[in-house]
Amino acid sequence: MIEDQWLKNDIEELSACPLCQCRKSSVLFNSLVDMMMPKSSDRWILKKCTECNVAYLSPRPNKKNINKAYINYYTHGDENGMIKKGKSSIFINYIKKVICKVKYKRDFSFKEFIIYLLVFSIYPVYLFLDAKIRHIGTFKDNKNRLLDIGCGNGGFLVFANDLGWDVMGLDVDESAVNSALSKGVNVQLGGIESLNKEDMFDMITLNHVIEHVYNPVELIQECYKHLNPGGKLWLETPNINSIGLDIYKEYWRGLEPPRHLILYNACTLSKLLSDAGFLNINQKTHGLSGVYMGLQSEKNIAGFKSYSLFFNKLFKWPRILFVEIVQLLFKRKSEFITLIAYK
Ligand SMILES: [Zn+2]
Repeated sequence: MIEDQWLKNDIEELSACPLCQCRKSSVLFNSLVDMMMPKSSDRWILKKCTECNVAYLSPRPNKKNINKAYINYYTHGDENGMIKKGKSSIFINYIKKVICKVKYKRDFSFKEFIIYLLVFSIYPVYLFLDAKIRHIGTFKDNKNRLLDIGCGNGGFLVFANDLGWDVMGLDVDESAVNSALSKGVNVQLGGIESLNKEDMFDMITLNHVIEHVYNPVELIQECYKHLNPGGKLWLETPNINSIGLDIYKEYWRGLEPPRHLILYNACTLSKLLSDAGFLNINQKTHGLSGVYMGLQSEKNIAGFKSYSLFFNKLFKWPRILFVEIVQLLFKRKSEFITLIAYK
């Protein structure tokens, strides 16, 4: 890649769907822009598989050069990352712990119960916080092991550790691993293949990871192998059938070419899990994800001058609220597919 430009040797064309190997597809978008590299003249094509209905990039960066797509990526360093150390985040963390104590641990004070009821009464906020704690649940004994694949700067590991879980994280980004290690949690550089055979867990989480990987079938099969019987997999990824995509089209935040290689629908993803042996697959609602994705997508629109600023501002909040309401009411149209499955 020279000056934000992808070269022929950096990319590969797919002759079939990377999930089901079907050769038939239609073009969903034929000129997508990497919003993190606005100066680049590269355009990406997103195809939809006729058989399994996932969307996949083709051409896409090859595995050898995919790291070039992450040069400007922002979620892993602490400076610009997800963890903000302000008073509001301390407050949100406290509320999340209260939800855990009341809903999952069932060990709480009267004050905590009142706080829980108050949050519950603002239902989308409650659904948002419950998704943020990844519906973590609780197991009978105290020494439960949790693995977070693609753990980034380790924010969730610290949270789970505080709740009494024995945690471990994996990430392919060295600076993310260093940042997580500095917080005192156990993190390794690499993907699931870097685990030892005997490394077993009671819960594995994949938070916005599966859309980035080249071989999702192998990833899910490996997760199954590393779970103890009765263990839980928690997974979240953008939904290609979402209402946000209907509204924002090529500006929808979930597309994110060329980092998102495959985008799923709930049905195909559930089948992927059940084919690997998972049982009791259950889709959860992630409250406020419509607001989040709406705001992010509006930012993408605002970056393009071909749109009228006046009409953009006028329709911004009605659009965002519409996306949120639809995604709350219809799981099929939700912004994220949030799944829980058991071994
Ligand atoms: Zn397919």
